[in-house]
Amino acid sequence: EKLGVKFLFGTTIQGLDIEGDRVRAVMTSAGPVTGDAVVISMGPESGLFGRRYGIDLPVYPVKGYTATIPLEDESKGPTMGGADEDRLIGYSRLGNRLRMSSTAEFTGFDRSFKPGDFRTILETGKDLFPRAFDEKKAVLWAGLRPMMPNSVPVIGQAKYRNLYLDTGHGHVGWTMACGSGQFLADVVAGRKPQIDPLGLLYGT
Ligand SMILES: Cc1cc2nc3c(=O)[nH]c(=O)nc-3n(C[C@H](O)[C@H](O)[C@H](O)COP(=O)(O)OP(=O)(O)OC[C@H]3O[C@@H](n4cnc5c(N)ncnc54)[C@H](O)[C@@H]3O)c2cc1C
Repeated sequence: EKLGVKFLFGTTIQGLDIEGDRVRAVMTSAGPVTGDAVVISMGPESGLFGRRYGIDLPVYPVKGYTATIPLEDESKGPTMGGADEDRLIGYSRLGNRLRMSSTAEFTGFDRSFKPGDFRTILETGKDLFPRAFDEKKAVLWAGLRPMMPNSVPVIGQAKYRNLYLDTGHGHVGWTMACGSGQFLADVVAGRKPQIDPLGLLYGT
């Protein structure tokens, strides 16, 4: 915000106001928002939204689950992130908490979950880190990854001259967030990106 960013929390994007070859405004529940450039970064919803405006964007939701648990004995938790490759469970240390995640399911936009969905995650955690946590304290969550069929995100200008995409990062959106932001900023500003854009840009 010190740099001039304004966040509109709790605001729903309803659509785009198109005028000729450009987006005039983003229509939101807080009224129209105008800007020099508009970026679609709506996670798994990006595909449906983009297709309303004729953008061929095959981003689909792929559901995953996480359990985040305070470490009762910090010395028994992992010191760095890793994975159990047999059971396909990833884990990372978040301060004095352990987060474990797993599963890729095609369930549409259903974000619901039940305790039984986390059995393998919690059993694996107990095997890997015995007596490190009390599973009853686990905070459970399910979310949707914005997946592209080829696992490559789509970044750059699309369809209208001031409309851009930065989406489809699938299971590594946090990992690629800063790099994607830098890449998109270069594209919007007309600078040469630091990496080869072929295959990343929409339509290439
Ligand atoms: C279980 C699980 C584990 C993961 N683990 C990792 C990991 O270890 N490392 C890693 O790098 N990545 C991981 N990911 C992937 C990562 O979370 C995603 O790639 C990343 O969140 C994508 O970021 P995004 O901003 O594109 O989309 P999102 O994070 O989905 O954000 C999109 C935002 O748009 C908002 N939105 C959508 N439609 C509207 C609308 N109409 N109006 C207003 N707002 C709207 C949504 O509310 C949301 O806040 C994991 C994902 C899951 C599900």
